[in-house]
Amino acid sequence: MDIVILAVVIALVAVGLISGLVVSSRKKKQLPPSAPSSTPTITPPAEPRVGEEPEAPRDEARRTIEEVGLPGTEVPVEEAPVVVEPEIPALEVPEPTAGRLVRLRARLARSQNSLGKGLLTLLSRDNLDEDTWEEIEDTLLTADVGVAPTQELVERLRERVRVLGTRTPEGLRALLREELVTLLGPDFDRTVRTEGGEETPGVVMVVGVNGTGKTTTTGKLARVLVADGRSVVLGAADTFRAAAADQLQTWGERVGARTVRGPEGGDPASIAFDAVKEGIAEGADVVLIDTAGRLHTKTGLMDELGKVKRVVEKHGPLDEILLVLDATTGQNGLVQARVFAEVVDISGIVLTKLDGTAKGGIVIAVQRELGVPVKLIGLGEGPDDLAPFEPGAFVDALIGD
Ligand code: GDP
Repeated sequence: MDIVILAVVIALVAVGLISGLVVSSRKKKQLPPSAPSSTPTITPPAEPRVGEEPEAPRDEARRTIEEVGLPGTEVPVEEAPVVVEPEIPALEVPEPTAGRLVRLRARLARSQNSLGKGLLTLLSRDNLDEDTWEEIEDTLLTADVGVAPTQELVERLRERVRVLGTRTPEGLRALLREELVTLLGPDFDRTVRTEGGEETPGVVMVVGVNGTGKTTTTGKLARVLVADGRSVVLGAADTFRAAAADQLQTWGERVGARTVRGPEGGDPASIAFDAVKEGIAEGADVVLIDTAGRLHTKTGLMDELGKVKRVVEKHGPLDEILLVLDATTGQNGLVQARVFAEVVDISGIVLTKLDGTAKGGIVIAVQRELGVPVKLIGLGEGPDDLAPFEPGAFVDALIGD
């Protein structure tokens, strides 16, 4: 009897051991391989630990009612926001043009420090002797004011300092400010004309030597106009420089202005013509035409720009021909200005890169040279770093107020 019981116990233990081995061997098969494997590892969801609420099983019946809905039963379901990806990048809102020069005055003050502050320091010397006046003259010449305007200014300053009873710092600053503003021609009309005709948009042609910042300025000007509530079409008539049309188009796209362009090396005049045609068709306010500025020969330039101008004028007169000059090129810029002025009737000057030179006096010199006002100035590479030129704000930035 004991033997029988023992045999049964042994048999039971044996069965138990065998089944335990099978289970454990099955479990091992389910474990992920520990060795690095090239197949992606899928991490199973973590099992709830002690103290954690297991996820409640979904109420299938409720889901069906809510998701499918019953006829005649309105189940309030919160509307998920629909995000529609814009196909075109969102348009930028350019900065308003009013007050731009004030915003950019720090850049101007920094670059023109030696001109404005230098003059003021020299004028404030106790003893305004001949040497000091010579230094004042040198300061003006170094800043590219030009010989004739420099002599005029020194003359007037000497005269006024003589008759001025007291020489307080405020008095001298006011005097210098007044004389510099006078030299800048406060009476010039500096409006960029874009009115156009009754049925035609305003047409502005932008000319200048390549590298001066012509395309950038055309793009920035489009922003100025858009900021003022005008609609713009761009004409990429600089077919000489490979990237110019792409560059202009990018500027346009940022503010919603269409760009008319042609093949590289194509005929600039026909692109300019088409741009104005597009402007008329769209009912745009302004068409801006970027041109190529190869100064290979004057005849070549004259032929090209003359043709663009003539062809565009078949639609109506041009409102504005803006000459872009790089302020950092100094006297060379004046030479360029002279050449362009002989080829086309420049109606306004855009002086770029004034943030990168101490030679702000070029504003005075170039206006004298051409008898045409500086209408806009470039003070950086940022999209809204183009400001309408205001003599008062310009001088204030130079000498502080
Ligand atoms: P384009 O060949 O005359 O059309 O010249 P771009 O428009 O391509 O400009 C030439 C370079 O001058 C670019 O790197 C511009 O970012 C830069 N540039 C244009 N205007 C200004 C300006 O006012 N300040 C500075 N610092 N750079 C400028």
